[in-house]
Amino acid sequence: MNIQKLKVEVEGNVQGVGFRPFVYRLAKSLNLKGFVRNTTKGVLIEVEGERKNLESFLKKLKEQKPPLASYHFLHFYFLDPEGFEKFEILKSDEKGEMASSVLPDIATCYDCLREIFEKKDRRYLYAFTNCTNCGPRFSIIEKVPYDRKNTTMKIFKMCKDCEKEYKNPEDRRFHAQPNACPLCGPEVYLRDENKNIIAKGFNAIQKSAEFIKKGHIIALKGLGGYQLLCNALDDNAVKSLRKRKKREEKPFALMFPDIESLKEYVYVDQISEIILKSPASPILLLKKKNKKVSHYVAPMNPFLGVMIPYTPLHHILMMELKTPVVCTSGNITDEPIAFEDETAFRKLKDIADYFLTHTRPIKRYVDDSVVRVVLGKEYIIRRARGYAPSALIFKEKLPPILALGAHLKNTIAISKGKKIFVSQHIGDLEKEESYKGFIKTIEDFKKLFEFEPEYIAHDAHPEYLSTKHAKQMDKPLIPVYHHHAHIVSCMIDNEIDEKVLGISWDGTGYGKDGKIWGGEFLMCDYKEFERAGTFREFRLIGGDMAIKEPRRSAMGILYEIFGEKAFKMDLEPVKSLNEKESRNFKIMFKKNINAFWTTSSGRLFDGVSSIIGIKQKISYEGQAAMLLEWIADEKIDEFYDFEIKEKDGVLIFDWEQMIKEIIEDLKKGVKKEIISSKFHNTLVEVIYRIVKKIKIKKIFLSGGVFQNRILTEKTYKKLSKEFNVYTHQRIPPNDNGISPGQIIIGAKNIK
Ligand code: ZN
Ligand code: ZN
Ligand code: FE
Repeated sequence: MNIQKLKVEVEGNVQGVGFRPFVYRLAKSLNLKGFVRNTTKGVLIEVEGERKNLESFLKKLKEQKPPLASYHFLHFYFLDPEGFEKFEILKSDEKGEMASSVLPDIATCYDCLREIFEKKDRRYLYAFTNCTNCGPRFSIIEKVPYDRKNTTMKIFKMCKDCEKEYKNPEDRRFHAQPNACPLCGPEVYLRDENKNIIAKGFNAIQKSAEFIKKGHIIALKGLGGYQLLCNALDDNAVKSLRKRKKREEKPFALMFPDIESLKEYVYVDQISEIILKSPASPILLLKKKNKKVSHYVAPMNPFLGVMIPYTPLHHILMMELKTPVVCTSGNITDEPIAFEDETAFRKLKDIADYFLTHTRPIKRYVDDSVVRVVLGKEYIIRRARGYAPSALIFKEKLPPILALGAHLKNTIAISKGKKIFVSQHIGDLEKEESYKGFIKTIEDFKKLFEFEPEYIAHDAHPEYLSTKHAKQMDKPLIPVYHHHAHIVSCMIDNEIDEKVLGISWDGTGYGKDGKIWGGEFLMCDYKEFERAGTFREFRLIGGDMAIKEPRRSAMGILYEIFGEKAFKMDLEPVKSLNEKESRNFKIMFKKNINAFWTTSSGRLFDGVSSIIGIKQKISYEGQAAMLLEWIADEKIDEFYDFEIKEKDGVLIFDWEQMIKEIIEDLKKGVKKEIISSKFHNTLVEVIYRIVKKIKIKKIFLSGGVFQNRILTEKTYKKLSKEFNVYTHQRIPPNDNGISPGQIIIGAKNIK
């Protein structure tokens, strides 16, 4: 029997409305043990029991709640069981800390939705309807306390009716800071690219829907920034969005009118439905069904990133459209999402035909979050709207530390008391605009959380821009190794503090020997780590080019095994090189020019992808590895041969035999799908054998490579009979999740 503990943090109107007795009865009826307790801002629930009962508990918690209870924040995650013996209502914990002090933005609630589509209501079709339980928060707050005068709503003076609601403790808009109505609140405009107003209010939304149906691209000012919308069923519209946005193959997210229409296109299980309908309302990656949107939406991809409307503006527009739209960040590739009107018009005028904009200013950019379901749990890939900046609560008080994250997909984090506040997704720091966003976010967090760091934690990589920034800050610095930060993030996500084995598989990460690590097995705790295992090294040539061209990884791997003979082999990466490239590559390997030793598992994925002819050059980060995952067949169990060697007490996965067998399979005409499956299985087998040798009970899986669902789930299945295996939930496994780990390691290493 699979007993787990489910921890639920709820905020909203949950005190004095019969909520705790309701939770008590619900838990009892599902045979769950644990407790429920009031906290300063809401309710904390911990329940243990069988997995399927925990899922029913979550579902019923939303569907059967007492009539007066309402939530604006509901986060849940699964932890090790503690062995509760009964279920009880515990005394309130007045000092207990809740996850939020600045709330994330919250998707429109059912009560507001009903009003928006009720003809007689004074907010009928009003795009800025909200209440105490829903609406903008993080995207409009300028400083604490969260009062109207401290938000971007301060420019709108409430009318008499709105003010009455706002002041009445019985009203569901009591102290709803963004409260507004058509008389007094923000307005919607449809503008052309020269900013001329074409229509206002509902008419503007209706016209936008018409334009989208006709194949136009609309820039829509959403909650945390501008988005680009077009008809997802129209090949030409999606194709032209790709062309104008200069985005070749990277998948686009979709918005559907509602959950029913979404279910026609993707498979939705119970946990997925809970996530889609949650107050966070993220983009969720789900498997495609036979019914298809344009294949330009997500080429070669068996998944679609889908969401449902989460603001009244989206709801009204989608109700008019009744058809799915592409809904992607309003930016030029890899830059931060545009959120200020001036910038949006300047940057998006060559992409969008029309702008559906409004008069409520956005304080900071907050992208849509991206979530995947792995092992039946929420697995956040990009942490932004709906999640940021809610805090992680650590078990003890932390010194004031600012953690600067790493380089790609960056976030920052700060510690205040027991809380760790992780920023929204910032982006790749090598882009100038993202770097500016990074600097701005640091200042923003200092102001918003009234925070002054005493220490700076940063990645140990001396060349990262975040490290260079740390060095200018005139505060004591604590360098943190990349892979250690990954593992500790995963440990705090699962609330475990002891010596563990962390497996950090990633594209890159500065190691203790100054080389690029990325296939690591670390014995570690919060303070320090030791390398227990890794991959055999190979060389990457040409720095960053090696990331964009998987064939460079392939040649590095082949050169290790076959030397110069590699350049005569009948393989796709070799054939893709022209004469000049071939000559240069040989010299670079021979004379070790611009060649870097690496143990990167991400690059091994790239190399295999290239060798079997899937992709020689990629058009977005991680593409070659993802394509490899997508073709793998989970039902296949075979794997390739390999060796585990040992050098200076470190176990080394030698992939030589595996690569040779892959090449033999290719010669025999074995299908790519089967080779990819066997490759995945080999890696699972590698983990199993190394873990067996190390003999430690608790295993943590982190790093960008573990965004791969097949690898993560198969590893879990293979190991969980003998070991406790932990994966990420609230904190992303990729570099979005580096900063919270840096905080904890930083705190343990203050001299
Ligand atoms: Zn509401
Ligand atoms: Zn009003
Ligand atoms: Fe990383």
